[in-house]
Amino acid sequence: MQTGLIERKGSVLTRSTLKCLSQVASINPTLGCVHRCAYCYARGYSMYPGDGKVLVYGNMPEKLRSELSRRRTLPAYVFFSPTCDVMQPIPQVLKVTYELMSILFERGVGVNLLTKGRIYPQFLPLFRQYKQLVHVQIGITTLNRDIQKKLEPFAATPQERIQNIKQLCEAGILPEIKLDPLIPGVTDTATNLQALFKALQPFGVNSAGINYLFLRPQIKRFLCKDLGSTPLLQEILKRYQDGTPLNLLAEKSRITALATHYRKPAYEQISSLAANSGIRAYVCGCKNPDITEEPLCGETWGQHFAKPLKQKPLICNGGNAR
Ligand code: SF4
Repeated sequence: MQTGLIERKGSVLTRSTLKCLSQVASINPTLGCVHRCAYCYARGYSMYPGDGKVLVYGNMPEKLRSELSRRRTLPAYVFFSPTCDVMQPIPQVLKVTYELMSILFERGVGVNLLTKGRIYPQFLPLFRQYKQLVHVQIGITTLNRDIQKKLEPFAATPQERIQNIKQLCEAGILPEIKLDPLIPGVTDTATNLQALFKALQPFGVNSAGINYLFLRPQIKRFLCKDLGSTPLLQEILKRYQDGTPLNLLAEKSRITALATHYRKPAYEQISSLAANSGIRAYVCGCKNPDITEEPLCGETWGQHFAKPLKQKPLICNGGNAR
């Protein structure tokens, strides 16, 4: 793994081109991501430094301070991060991330963290201190370590992600889960999801964003490269042979989605399975404009920061954590 510090020239806070996140301030403290997920769309971006390389914007904390001081109004929260995961096991990434989050919290700005990594111990006291300003989404689609390792070779194991949830609960933060991307025929099966939902029940997790994998030529290239000629790759690609070409609700973004006749009933079935475990599932309209008109992601996250939290009492007995 090659890491290095680079200088951020442009604004620190940016906005996503996805319609559902167009009003959400976002931050990407690194170029590249050590987790190297086989389906990662960010690996196809022109700024991607290449596999095995992570560049950290060392001057971001200083720039963020100055950017916030010039603003008339501060954002309600900032999304970490659209094109990288800040919980990467790289000291410079964790240091810059900690500083950035501290700067935001001290000014009353919330943090929406999406991660498939391990939440490192130094963050827990910070999150506990500012728990009203923290919303965490744990990306997890399976408890099956073999499948997860093939898809997300250097991310946290499923057990570590369950441990993240347990530790967040203990800090007074109820995370939601992100079933994204679901892989048809692999992680969307009732057996896989029921096992996952059962493991989440002791913690009272009650919200899940769901979305199926979509393909672009670059994503397909990385999938083929990383999964080789495994049965898993064949299983995935065959489902997209009769895929639906779609325009995401975003600038110039054309993708191949699973056929609508597969996705629509599958989302309904997954939502129903989730509901059986007390979890409300929602589908991102920007990535599924043929199915729902509701661009729910930014809206759902925004609600979290717009009013005082009314969480169910958390049951953190850790029964399924390890
Ligand atoms: S964790 Fe996210 S940003 Fe990192 S490689 Fe995986 S999908 Fe890409």
